[in-house]
Amino acid sequence: MHDVVVVGNGSLGLSLGLVLARRGVRVAVLGRPHRPGAASTAAGAMIGTFGEVTTTLLKSDYGRTKLDWAYRASRMWPQWLASLSPDSDGTDLLTADGTIVMLNTIGLPEIDTENYRAIRRALTEYDEPYEDIEDIGWLDPEPAARPLRAMFLHHEHAVNAPELLVRLEKAFLGAGGALITEQATRSRHLVVEEFLV
Ligand SMILES: Cc1cc2nc3c(=O)[nH]c(=O)nc-3n(C[C@H](O)[C@H](O)[C@H](O)COP(=O)(O)OP(=O)(O)OC[C@H]3O[C@@H](n4cnc5c(N)ncnc54)[C@H](O)[C@@H]3O)c2cc1C
Repeated sequence: MHDVVVVGNGSLGLSLGLVLARRGVRVAVLGRPHRPGAASTAAGAMIGTFGEVTTTLLKSDYGRTKLDWAYRASRMWPQWLASLSPDSDGTDLLTADGTIVMLNTIGLPEIDTENYRAIRRALTEYDEPYEDIEDIGWLDPEPAARPLRAMFLHHEHAVNAPELLVRLEKAFLGAGGALITEQATRSRHLVVEEFLV
């Protein structure tokens, strides 16, 4: 008997299941072990916030909120990864230390150059460190895709997506959650307020 059944065993379903299990909720996560169609197994797994900023994002309240949440979430990653296993501080799951964002000759100035500027504007607003990279001579680009400018974002990392799923699953089971290796065929909408605190 479960209080909550989470449909979908990707990184979000497992994370939600884990948080609930840690709160003492009897929770099951539903999904087939090979995860057909899962985005979590395809992901490049960048923990990106500012590299994803566009002019459009900065124009709307929704976009601003999304950026703000992404920023706050990115600050929680180290603690979250460390919480997944007693044998690791979580840093072994990280596969990149910082990210290089490049503006290249592909695309349009009014879109790509403006989006590059939007990234810098957001970085400045959030007082985030970044560095212009002057020497990009080590690149061997296609002639039509030569870099114009590049910057290094110190705090944009990446995580090993397959290993994250393994660790989430272990942590979830360790916290008393149950995995049901089935496919849901229908769902009903319910809001259970006591779990929303
Ligand atoms: C190519 C690619 C690259 C990406 N790169 C990045 C990146 O670099 N950084 C980043 O932050 N995000 C990236 N994303 C987005 C990110 O991967 C997703 O936002 C995230 O993985 C979604 O997780 P999820 O658990 O919600 O969904 P999913 O990982 O899609 O998990 C859904 C799960 O539910 C299961 N399922 C579906 N239907 C049912 C059912 N009826 N019953 C039971 N189970 C079911 C599926 O099999 C799957 O296992 C990328 C996505 C793609 C596709």
